[in-house]
Amino acid sequence: MEQTTFYPAVNSIINTGRLPDPIRNGFLILRQDIYHTGQLGKVDYIEGIAKQVNYQYHAADGKVHDLGTFDLEWATKWKRRTGKEALNRPASGVEDVDYVKRKNDKGKDIFFIKEGDVNTPLLTLFKNSKEFTYQKNDKRTIILSETTDREYFNPERLAAIIGAVLGTGFEDVVTNGSVKIDGTGAPSVSHVNGNNIDFKYLRVDGKRPKIDITGGVVHTDATGSNKLGIERQEKLLDAFNKFGFGETRKNLSWFLPNGKTLKHCIEDAKINEKSKSSHYHHLHLTGFKAKYR
Ligand SMILES: [Zn+2]
Repeated sequence: MEQTTFYPAVNSIINTGRLPDPIRNGFLILRQDIYHTGQLGKVDYIEGIAKQVNYQYHAADGKVHDLGTFDLEWATKWKRRTGKEALNRPASGVEDVDYVKRKNDKGKDIFFIKEGDVNTPLLTLFKNSKEFTYQKNDKRTIILSETTDREYFNPERLAAIIGAVLGTGFEDVVTNGSVKIDGTGAPSVSHVNGNNIDFKYLRVDGKRPKIDITGGVVHTDATGSNKLGIERQEKLLDAFNKFGFGETRKNLSWFLPNGKTLKHCIEDAKINEKSKSSHYHHLHLTGFKAKYR
């Protein structure tokens, strides 16, 4: 056995007290447990060794559902730059290695600065299809991706997303994505490393929001449309919160026609009036704190 396959096994026993995750062809396939209670299994993502993640959902009836195995990508870990900092090129550094330059949604230059020497794991559900579907017995979930180049996510947060959506049984959840395969998420500056994730708002009629933005605009915006399904949206937000989103800070949304705020959200319109934020047509999930079993 190669040395590289040995260390994660030892690590697993030390950290979790259980037998190592499966090792195939010398590469580690991590098992990411997702519990219906909102908890996640603690997983050590080790660069160079961990090649894939296998999601396992533990349902309330005790049954365990294999949701599939997905390839891990390792991207540069970036630091977001905010305010004036975000618009200034770093004093030193090599572009594409130490920083990358992108445009924000107002066409201004923004920079993502390399953070440390450790890369960050990313994962996508949408390599072959814009639709991730799992169905077995009474368990069914569908998560769709808008046409975007930001289809990569932090694997632990993606596990939380899947767990939340599975709990609701909704089949019209559409993500606008998180980051590109390089870990940057322009035009947003706060999308780095796959940590913050965007979603379309849910329609009241349960139909899927338009997932191809080039095919015409069907925003289920929250600014006055009677098509926004507030009750269903809040059920989903509760589910996301159960899995740890909106914990350390609230998610970003928009004011509602009834003058209230969606649960676990702050109204970006109020805090960010001058910058004309785009959260009227998409929900921004943030403030994640995992609840480990
Ligand atoms: Zn966002």
